[in-house]
Amino acid sequence: MCFVEVAGLPNPVTSCTEKVKDGMKVTINSPRTTVLRRSSFNLLLSRHRLDCGRCPKNRKCELQHIASLEHFKLNDKRLKKIAADYDVDTSHRLFAFDKNKCVLCGRCVWVCQREGTGVLDFAYRGINTMVSTFAGMPLSETECNSCLSCVTVCPVGALYAK
Ligand code: SF4
Ligand code: SF4
Repeated sequence: MCFVEVAGLPNPVTSCTEKVKDGMKVTINSPRTTVLRRSSFNLLLSRHRLDCGRCPKNRKCELQHIASLEHFKLNDKRLKKIAADYDVDTSHRLFAFDKNKCVLCGRCVWVCQREGTGVLDFAYRGINTMVSTFAGMPLSETECNSCLSCVTVCPVGALYAK
């Protein structure tokens, strides 16, 4: 989502991977970056269970925030929906994990490793990529220390407190 144009480079780049240099000229909003951001957004939404009305993150969700900032539609119909139909893991007494809402940002993976537990990690590849526990174990059967850091950092309604 973080495409920018850098003067001197032929194509837009992702700002999270581009090293800052002295004198660099960066354009955040250009016709090309807007098209790329919109495409990325629509791709994310094409595999997202959109039910804001019943979602624990409704009105505090970063997808909704981006849609409002960029004037993108949450229910844009240009891309076919590829329904993800994962069971919601409600086994933990304090929080639940709904993979159908995950946008694969990796924040929970990072924070879980920083906590020293490393219960959450990426699994599979391509369109099947997901965040998972080891072998898809229910959260209640893992070494989770109940710090809830993953719930705090999740930008959408994928990891939420009960
Ligand atoms: S995660 Fe955000 S966009 Fe998705 S259903 Fe929940 S509130 Fe709506
Ligand atoms: S923080 Fe939330 S959206 Fe990001 S990878 Fe983890 S579960 Fe998915």
